[in-house]
Amino acid sequence: MFTLKGKIALVTGASQGIGRATSLALAEAGATVAVAARNREKLASLAAEIEAAGGASLAVAMDVADAAQVKDGFQLILGKFQRLDILVNNAAITRDTLALRMKLEDWDAVLRTNLTGAHLCTQQALAPMLKQRSGRIINVTSVVAQTGNAGQANYVASKAGLIGLTRAIATEVASRSITVNAVAPGFVETPMTEPLPQALKDKLKSLIPLGRFGQDREIAMAIVFLASDEAAYITGQVLGVNGGMHMG
Ligand code: NAP
Repeated sequence: MFTLKGKIALVTGASQGIGRATSLALAEAGATVAVAARNREKLASLAAEIEAAGGASLAVAMDVADAAQVKDGFQLILGKFQRLDILVNNAAITRDTLALRMKLEDWDAVLRTNLTGAHLCTQQALAPMLKQRSGRIINVTSVVAQTGNAGQANYVASKAGLIGLTRAIATEVASRSITVNAVAPGFVETPMTEPLPQALKDKLKSLIPLGRFGQDREIAMAIVFLASDEAAYITGQVLGVNGGMHMG
């Protein structure tokens, strides 16, 4: 059960946080994992860690917001492995401020990385997956796409857009046995949430029924499940992994 032996996976935003934990968990389950992000040093150290644990990995430096780099990255992966079974669209950035003050460049940068980046990677992944007549696409959205969050209009819009993208593509490719789902983490201890002021962290914790932030591995394991053969009948869904912060 839950073996990913023989599967080829690509995780974007793999250099730290949830993407890193997901890459390690997919490798632990037996997948060969292409790890993508912009920071080459961190990717090389992750690939080395996967290989030291007996797994297989390929570091792919690419900016998901750049269509040419995405195309080159996929060429590298498909040239080496000739297939792709699992795509995890996880790369994201934040540029938080109130909507009234938000600069267009901060709106554009967040939408471009978080939503357009997922679209570009999905387009590239669909070619081999449609040919194989199988595949798993997992988009990492956020609880704030479901609840809203002041000061994050760009990020929330990108993450809500990702839920729409998940459902649209799930419908388009279901006839080829490709599933497309989203995982919506609540607040998770990663470099993204590390800079939040302690008072805000304490306030947020008080809103979480389980009373704590999540760990990156707890998100990773939900992704491993959705990537598995056992999840074959689940598509177009949003799986909340949020300590009960949002139910529904
Ligand atoms: P993180 O620590 O900030 O990591 C983000 C990752 O995305 C990094 O590996 C970064 O690597 C990569 N990235 C950013 N821009 C990129 C680009 N243009 N091209 C390629 N890679 C890029 O974030 P995290 O907390 O692990 O979050 C991971 C995912 O979970 C994100 O989608 C985030 O929105 C979502 N999420 C997180 C939380 C949370 O509480 N942490 C909650 C809900 C949802 P490089 O800088 O090396 O490119």
